[in-house]
Amino acid sequence: MVDCAILGAGLAGLVAAQYLAERGLEVVVLEARQRVGGRVENRVLDDGSYVELGGQWIGPGFDALQEIIDDLDLDTIGLPAKGSLVVRLRGQSLHVPSEDEDAPELTPFEVADLGQGLLRLRRLADRLRDDAAWRQANAAWLGQDLRRWVITNLRTMGAQRRFAEVYAAAFGPMPKGATLLEGLHQVNSGPDLETMLASNGGLNQKRVDGGMARVVEALAARLGDDVVRLGAEVVKISHGDRSATIHLADGETIEAKQVISTLPPRLAVALEHEPALPEWRAEVAEKVAPGNVIKAFLIYDRPFWRDHGFSGQSSADEGAVRVTFDTTAETSSRGHLMGFFEGADADSLSRRTETLRERAFVDSVVRTFGEDAAQPLAYVERDWAREKFTGGCHGAHFSPGVWTTNGPLLAQAEGVLHWAGAEYSTRFNGYLEGAVRSGREVAAAVARELA
Ligand SMILES: Cc1cc2nc3c(=O)[nH]c(=O)nc-3n(C[C@H](O)[C@H](O)[C@H](O)COP(=O)(O)OP(=O)(O)OC[C@H]3O[C@@H](n4cnc5c(N)ncnc54)[C@H](O)[C@@H]3O)c2cc1C
Repeated sequence: MVDCAILGAGLAGLVAAQYLAERGLEVVVLEARQRVGGRVENRVLDDGSYVELGGQWIGPGFDALQEIIDDLDLDTIGLPAKGSLVVRLRGQSLHVPSEDEDAPELTPFEVADLGQGLLRLRRLADRLRDDAAWRQANAAWLGQDLRRWVITNLRTMGAQRRFAEVYAAAFGPMPKGATLLEGLHQVNSGPDLETMLASNGGLNQKRVDGGMARVVEALAARLGDDVVRLGAEVVKISHGDRSATIHLADGETIEAKQVISTLPPRLAVALEHEPALPEWRAEVAEKVAPGNVIKAFLIYDRPFWRDHGFSGQSSADEGAVRVTFDTTAETSSRGHLMGFFEGADADSLSRRTETLRERAFVDSVVRTFGEDAAQPLAYVERDWAREKFTGGCHGAHFSPGVWTTNGPLLAQAEGVLHWAGAEYSTRFNGYLEGAVRSGREVAAAVARELA
């Protein structure tokens, strides 16, 4: 019987396994796919360069992840090119120098309006965190619609629009019916909205040289093939008071004293459990819907946008792909332009052909960067919602009210069965950093159980 069986070899699972293995405990990591990394994955291209299909950006405050990167002796790199950010807004293209943090695509009045709105939100979030009596006294007011709050507190259309963009980039699109309370919880648990507003100083700051996949591959290599078992799809967990039996799809069973499940919440509860999980857990997981993003790349013979002084970073208020970044690999002479199909666009285009999605991406970037963008050499994509062992991305979205009522409860152990992963973290929920923190914290709890 192993000390701990870990379900899933994503970042959370591998970090948890390393933590326990370092303390001399016997672990096995059971991974359904034929690769490690989960939502972290590299695709190597024909010229030997790579694109990152999943999580790649390291933002401010990603300290736990940075520690691991340092420990593995890996390097980080910044955005590849300086140059203007292109913003397409209300049919007009504006070029914003990347050093300029004042978001000048807005008029000075709109910038001031946005700044005040963010400041108000930040103050409310601080108060919510620090003042329980205030929170109770204002419960009804905090229940107001978040969109309503934005319209009331930001007076200009430009500031409201930019606010929604920054909010969506940080937490995903603002869900219909989300309350102010939900929004304030997001502000307290996610990246700093004010920092994200700076065009070159926000979430998208650094990445690992060679790709985030190097982190998961190095962690797995340390653990070894005997510990990290690929192609091991878990279908059932029977857990008692002192141990558990893990059932794999091929009929094999594994006995463990403790179990850490790092599957995204909906997939985790969809496994067969004996005894059955409490009903509330399935109900909550049902409300933690995975987001829907298709991450896509256009590969060009060179990063032509740099010739025009553009950084490759763009945002638009229309089109199938509304944000782009230059993610050209250091080793490549080609140009890699990355973009996202998001939400409803991802939903509808997911049902169409890859050729059609490529066309839609090209159309969007031609409008942004001109005719040079019309003839890419190749198109690469990953539609995460179609992946059986992920089910959507970037992370899962908590429906209005769910995080505040039951969110943190989701991370509570059921006897020897523990839960970890990006969606279980109270800080950086849904991000690489959240996965690392959660993996580490839950492993520490398991180590205490086993002591
Ligand atoms: C397109 C995209 C872009 C992103 N960009 C960023 C970014 O730039 N910065 C950032 O911080 N975050 C980003 N994220 C989010 C980040 O990648 C995730 O939060 C993080 O990788 C989640 O790690 P995890 O270990 O919690 O979960 P996962 O990586 O999902 O790991 C779960 C593992 O469980 C395995 N599994 C599933 N079912 C079974 C089963 N039945 N049996 C056995 N194994 C199973 C899966 O194969 C997987 O390996 C992005 C995500 C995506 C998809």
